[in-house]
Amino acid sequence: MRFGVHVSIGKGLPEAVRTAKALGCDAFQIFIGNPRGWKKRALSDQEVAAFRQEVQTTGLGPVVVHLSYLPNPAAEDEALYEKSILAIAEEYQRAVAIGAAYFVVHPGKSGGQDRESAMTKVARGVREILKMVKGSTLFLLENQAGAGTEVGGNLVQLAQILDEINHPDRTGICFDTCHAFAAGYELRTAEGSNRLLTEVDTTVGLARMPLLHLNDAIGECGSRLDRHTHIGQGRIGVEGFRRLLTEPRIAGLTGILETPQVTPEDDLRNLAVLRQLAAGGTR
Ligand SMILES: [Zn+2]
Ligand SMILES: [Zn+2]
Repeated sequence: MRFGVHVSIGKGLPEAVRTAKALGCDAFQIFIGNPRGWKKRALSDQEVAAFRQEVQTTGLGPVVVHLSYLPNPAAEDEALYEKSILAIAEEYQRAVAIGAAYFVVHPGKSGGQDRESAMTKVARGVREILKMVKGSTLFLLENQAGAGTEVGGNLVQLAQILDEINHPDRTGICFDTCHAFAAGYELRTAEGSNRLLTEVDTTVGLARMPLLHLNDAIGECGSRLDRHTHIGQGRIGVEGFRRLLTEPRIAGLTGILETPQVTPEDDLRNLAVLRQLAAGGTR
């Protein structure tokens, strides 16, 4: 597996690549603008070119872009829905422009709508975006913890949305271990991870899951609590991750950490733990 972390673009896109390289990442993930606002500063052609150059020089990849926090592609309110779809299209456009391999989107919250119509809304929006923006960046839906009215808390729902989008060549899923565990997927036992991978294969298909978010979970299995912690220090634990990371069916995937980053040592330690566990070793 290739491993990486989410890095900040606060000092510009090219610097983000250098940060990832300095941490010893194989791959990395970024936001493509301020994740907490609707307004994004313009990206100059020069900055984009410098980023691409840096990616090429360092050999890092795949490059992953994660959608910002505010857009909700399942929004009940029509104005918010429209605004969200346009914002996602704009960020997807940027992901294509910088040559990202993957663009990761949470399927949103349904609010007062029933789940079926919310899922249809997500699919309609993504279809619209894929029509507006052409490019080879894969559009990935991420499984959510299923808190409140979150859509996409299980693989069956994600598979249904992907079916409705009906662009198998341009879409897939990103699988987050913390969200899955919180949503009730047992990842601590061999039987659990086996069942999970079989479910991936019979729903969305293993070939359509190129990316993992590797996060340990603060909450119990089924708690619906979306709170990440360091690998091995949460409820999934060392054994859970060792089992998953040594599973041959996902050996070729990319795994990105979204664990707490208080100091750079946090990322360094989590990356080292992942690599050790993937190699089958003990910590
Ligand atoms: Zn995630
Ligand atoms: Zn999360």
